[in-house]
Amino acid sequence: PIKLTPEQARLRGLAREVAEGSIRARAAETDRTEAYPWENLREMTRAGLIGHTIPKAYGGAGGSFLDAVLIVEEMARVCGVSGRIAVEANMGAISAVMQYGTEEQKQLAARIVLAGDKPAICITEPGAGSAATEMTTSAVRHGNTYVLNGRKHWITGAGVSKLHLVFARVFDEAGQEQGIGGFIIARDVPGVPETPGFRIGRREPTMGLRGIPESEVILEDAEVPASMALRPPGGWRRGFAELMDAYNSQRVGAGTVALGIAQGAYELALDHAGAREQFGRPIAEFQGLQWMLADMSIQLNAARLSLHDAAASADPFPDPLLAAQAKVLASEMAIRVTNDALQVFGARGYSRDLPLERMVRDARMFTIGGGTAQILRTQIASRILGRKFPQGRDGYRGEALRPAA
Ligand code: FAD
Repeated sequence: PIKLTPEQARLRGLAREVAEGSIRARAAETDRTEAYPWENLREMTRAGLIGHTIPKAYGGAGGSFLDAVLIVEEMARVCGVSGRIAVEANMGAISAVMQYGTEEQKQLAARIVLAGDKPAICITEPGAGSAATEMTTSAVRHGNTYVLNGRKHWITGAGVSKLHLVFARVFDEAGQEQGIGGFIIARDVPGVPETPGFRIGRREPTMGLRGIPESEVILEDAEVPASMALRPPGGWRRGFAELMDAYNSQRVGAGTVALGIAQGAYELALDHAGAREQFGRPIAEFQGLQWMLADMSIQLNAARLSLHDAAASADPFPDPLLAAQAKVLASEMAIRVTNDALQVFGARGYSRDLPLERMVRDARMFTIGGGTAQILRTQIASRILGRKFPQGRDGYRGEALRPAA
């Protein structure tokens, strides 16, 4: 197991304190009202849990991804939505900007996030989900600006986030395609001009994690200063690959939200099994339930180790193979464990009076968002077999037989 330093143990303790303080108490209300939990965000910000991974030189705590994972699990254990806020405020878009950004971009992103923002990463489009590189959103250079056009959907936090990292195909002034890049768009930030042509569209009515909007982001001739183009060191050609390297941190974060939700459900089940009596004895005395609880604990432990290992591998981002393995393991585990926890409660588990049914709904998405379990398995296969496996019909024919470069 990964041994925590005394500072990490303290950080986890602090995160638990914040989570148990009032975030747990608000979780049911957040789910019921589907309202963004601004107060949770404020409390996390005050405690230094938002932008914790931002380097000290930019006002953050300079925390590691393992630190972030500790925060995320504690939040998700009581409130899945708050767990996801902790992910995006420490991993994903913010870490891409802090790693690849210019001085100006890093200053801006750090300022926004540390003031209490969960950034949004805008990749997916109606026609480009798993096939993300087929995105059609374009960014065409015109003098000192890029003009963006396109439509993103299922963007977590669209409508409440201030910092956005929008992925688009980049074209030079001559209309020549350069590759895929990221564009930083701030919304509702004092001192930063708004971007006309950048707007939020329809909100999805989601199954779980209802306190955070999943919405469309629409770009209609949105002009973004060229200084806000995020160009990884490998240039636009390697842009998508390098931005996705950064995204591996978010993948580990997403897996950790699943872990936290499942951990929360397991703890409730454990207590209930000791308290509820049938046939004149606590139901925990029945071997059928003992083994369910044992299996839950085994899976939780395995997923946590895998996630911590992936987080600790960061250099500067988590190893893609470890991140993919951990996310598949944790996301599938959470579906089983939350369901089993509900089962331990019998009819009560099915009631909206208790958090079990919410936990089942909240856990369901992690095999989908941020790379589906199927796509991640293909990526894992590609890494362990040392070959590329292009999924398009034409790409597959020649490429699959060729060893990866
Ligand atoms: P599709 O690509 O249409 O896939 C449908 C099914 O086919 C899936 O089961 C998939 O695994 C399978 N499939 C597709 N291709 C293959 C293949 N080659 N081999 C095997 N199986 C395959 N996106 C963002 O950009 N930003 C966000 O903040 C964000 N947040 C999200 C939050 C939630 C709650 C959800 C549900 C999604 C979010 N997404 C976000 C979008 C998410 O990344 C996509 O849903 C995901 O990449 C899958 O794309 P799709 O939904 O279009 O499914």
